[in-house]
Amino acid sequence: MNQPSPPAQIIDGVALSQKLRSDVASRVQALKTRGITPGLAVVLVGENPASQVYVRNKVKACEDAGLFSVLEKYEATLTEAALLARIDALNNDPAIHGILVQLPVPAHINASHVIEAISPDKDVDGFHVASAGALMTGMPGFWPCTPYGCMKMLESIHYDLKGKHALVIGRSNIVGKPMALMLLQKHASVTICHSATTNLKALTLQADVIVAAVGKRNVLTADMVKPGAVVLDVGMNRNDAGKLCGDVDFEGVRQVAGYITPVPGGVGPMTITMLLVNTLEAAERINP
Ligand code: NAP
Repeated sequence: MNQPSPPAQIIDGVALSQKLRSDVASRVQALKTRGITPGLAVVLVGENPASQVYVRNKVKACEDAGLFSVLEKYEATLTEAALLARIDALNNDPAIHGILVQLPVPAHINASHVIEAISPDKDVDGFHVASAGALMTGMPGFWPCTPYGCMKMLESIHYDLKGKHALVIGRSNIVGKPMALMLLQKHASVTICHSATTNLKALTLQADVIVAAVGKRNVLTADMVKPGAVVLDVGMNRNDAGKLCGDVDFEGVRQVAGYITPVPGGVGPMTITMLLVNTLEAAERINP
């Protein structure tokens, strides 16, 4: 008689974040003894409620780890020219090592203009074309925080990607595409899927690692996963009861997968953690 396979091991993003944030705090202290405090500027334009929560969490995480942070809040009516002038000032502010403009910005502001205005040396979100190009060519630069956090989760389970088949569902510039490039850099064979992919299940069943970054519930169900596969769930959605959930049918997939990340408590906390890491590294790079 077939025994049911044991449930997957959970990769705990909260616990891993605590460990990484305590490493960040130690390195921040080392810089402080040299008179340098890593500083992050977080810029928020408008009143988007989700954005308000995100920026508060980012500023608090900085404070907890000993980094300096400033939160600049502007009315939704701020002009693009005024925002670009503010970014220029932050680019030239020696107390600021990282700049983050919380997206989305109001519709009258072109997000690309904003992202490209940030100095690549302070682009701790890793969204600038220079950062994207650096990732693509394997040059030093800042990696986008969410896929970077996913890579740290794989590292935490000592997962060797060499020769493995990794599959990413989603091809956004901030998650899917950089995720695929990071997996490729670690020698996985990478498949990228998106809304026009036909027969997603036939592809996911071949994958050793699956990253779901779509923004739709139950994009990945147990029948789509190879036994023992590693499943990382980036998605953030609400279920019928209004509770936070991911793209993956967690209860079903955990019966098949070898490892799985929960939502909440998985990739989400890692994203902020990697923002701290990037800001610290921005300060370390100019103070070797
Ligand atoms: P996005 O820009 O909307 O991209 C979604 C991607 O999913 C697109 O490439 C889209 O394909 C693809 N897609 C849509 N429906 C699909 C389907 N049925 N099958 C396969 N692919 C499909 O979203 P994003 O910014 O990458 O974010 C993705 C999710 O991650 C969201 O839930 C977001 O809230 C979450 N997120 C979480 C964190 C975190 O810290 N945990 C950080 C960032 C994002 P096309 O390109 O063809 O349209």
